[in-house]
Amino acid sequence: MRLTSGSISVTLFLLTCLIALPDANAQTRGGGGGGGGGGRDASRSGLGKSLPAPGLTAAFHGGAACTTIASPYGSPTRYDGSLRKSGGAEDGLHGGIDLSLDEGTPLLAIAAGRVFAAGEGGMLEGIFLWVLHLPEDTGLNFAFLAKYQHLREPSPLRQGERVRPGQDLARSGKTGTVGGHYGPRGYPHLHLTVRALTDDGLKLAATGSGEFRILRDTVMVDPLTVYVPGIAAPADAANLPGERKTVTIAHVDLKGTLRSADSRLVWPVACP
Ligand SMILES: [Zn+2]
Repeated sequence: MRLTSGSISVTLFLLTCLIALPDANAQTRGGGGGGGGGGRDASRSGLGKSLPAPGLTAAFHGGAACTTIASPYGSPTRYDGSLRKSGGAEDGLHGGIDLSLDEGTPLLAIAAGRVFAAGEGGMLEGIFLWVLHLPEDTGLNFAFLAKYQHLREPSPLRQGERVRPGQDLARSGKTGTVGGHYGPRGYPHLHLTVRALTDDGLKLAATGSGEFRILRDTVMVDPLTVYVPGIAAPADAANLPGERKTVTIAHVDLKGTLRSADSRLVWPVACP
């Protein structure tokens, strides 16, 4: 019974999400003006609200040789050093982190949660999967959605399905990158976006009223924010003292063991 009603509410979220995303694209095309270096708001970027890059860097538990970030959050450049297009879908600044990966690399859930939505966008988006992470899943004070983009094929997981930290979600790919800047070979990578739910967004998500809208009810943040130990609110990441801006991140090793075992947030790919 509970599972069934949960599935229904997630399906409702999906419907509103799919309605909201084309609106965003229309706003992006119609809206002029590049955003400044600071936070961008819905009226300017068409991708909803976002926080400016807080200056976090990633380190890995035990010094593991994890795949590092090829283009960080808020970066004006792509992995190859070229300048992102101002006024484009990401308004000239990167709306997530990129990990350059061989096609077919298993992508792992960064925390416990449940599958929220899935679909396929066009250029720059590709096949994607959204996973919802509530405070009880992560121990954080806020809820967030993680979006995995450019998947090789749709995830076999169903909407509403629960996932555990480090669970295999999908295979990496290059959908949405072939043609345009990256040419016919595309750019195989994971683009990971994290959007923190607002207080209202969390209430809507918890009640499953079907009114939840990603662009209105979330704020885009640096994905590294969720790995900061004990962070109370996403905006606090910008004000951390220097020594706390390097975030040590747990991972799953190639044998599938969680390192470290007590961590509730892990890197989205396994590490040697
Ligand atoms: Zn990206």
